[in-house]
Amino acid sequence: MPDHFYTLDFAGELAPGNYEREGITGYVYTSMQPNTVAIYRWYNSTSHDHFYTADPGGELAPQNYKYEGIAWYMFNQRQVNTVALYRWYNSESGDHFYTADATGELGPPAYKSEGILGYMHPNPTNHAVPIYRWWESGLLSNFSFDDDITEAQRRKLLERHTWAFYRAGICGNIGAEEKEKVRAVYRQGIRHSATTLPGVNAYVPDLNARHLFINFNNLFPQGDREIAQTLLHEMMHCAGYPHPAHIDSGPNIDRPYDGGKYYGTAPLRSELCIDGVQSDTSTVGMVLASYAVTQTELRACPVVNPTAQANEATAPGDVVTQA
Ligand SMILES: [Zn+2]
Repeated sequence: MPDHFYTLDFAGELAPGNYEREGITGYVYTSMQPNTVAIYRWYNSTSHDHFYTADPGGELAPQNYKYEGIAWYMFNQRQVNTVALYRWYNSESGDHFYTADATGELGPPAYKSEGILGYMHPNPTNHAVPIYRWWESGLLSNFSFDDDITEAQRRKLLERHTWAFYRAGICGNIGAEEKEKVRAVYRQGIRHSATTLPGVNAYVPDLNARHLFINFNNLFPQGDREIAQTLLHEMMHCAGYPHPAHIDSGPNIDRPYDGGKYYGTAPLRSELCIDGVQSDTSTVGMVLASYAVTQTELRACPVVNPTAQANEATAPGDVVTQA
């Protein structure tokens, strides 16, 4: 009974794990504004349906739904620069679905129109905040986590994975087949283990592995962007895409955005999907700096393609370090 869930929380509250991101529905308010009304959120744990209504009494909801508070504030009539948010209902699955698309996206015949919930801004507007839409597709439901990974670490990994998966889906830096392959891997049983291996953020033991090792001490302090980039990079390895060893010095030095033998590979290109940057970006401004500076950079992962590593190692003048 796949649910559609709407929240102002970018991280999706408890959604990551079973839900996947579906982007931004529109822009609303966190407090009462002129001509706005509160939208109340209810949840049916049996049918897994999130239900939103402007009726403080909850319409028919109280019978089977639990009240979860005020979701947001939106206009109760059309204003300048607003669009309607339409409500649709699938009586078979019990799912309520909300969209700015008057034809309903999923629409008829499965979903029947139930009118307009309210009006919202279609684009970012002063003081308005995004509604994030999530869909209970079961994404990441096959992921597993070793016992020594804390609940907070698990939650962060799931949230960052959903962001990486979403960004990969709309990314122009990886090709159609790369996109399809890596997104398919997210639905498989990926085991997560902690590692303290020095100098790496994360790694997979082999290409096509279904096992990620995360160095939480190295990776998490680098922040959300680096976490998502690293996870997507490693998932590209799980999907079968390798890269050679990073060349740290000499005439063939690898630099972010050079599109070369290292940064041009699928795992490194995928990093651009998150925020348009590749790991080790701090070296960009240091292309004239000494080799010793770049050598201290953490790598997303060590080499997972021994053949490529050997090839790089034999290139004249290159120093191969497994960071
Ligand atoms: Zn890698």
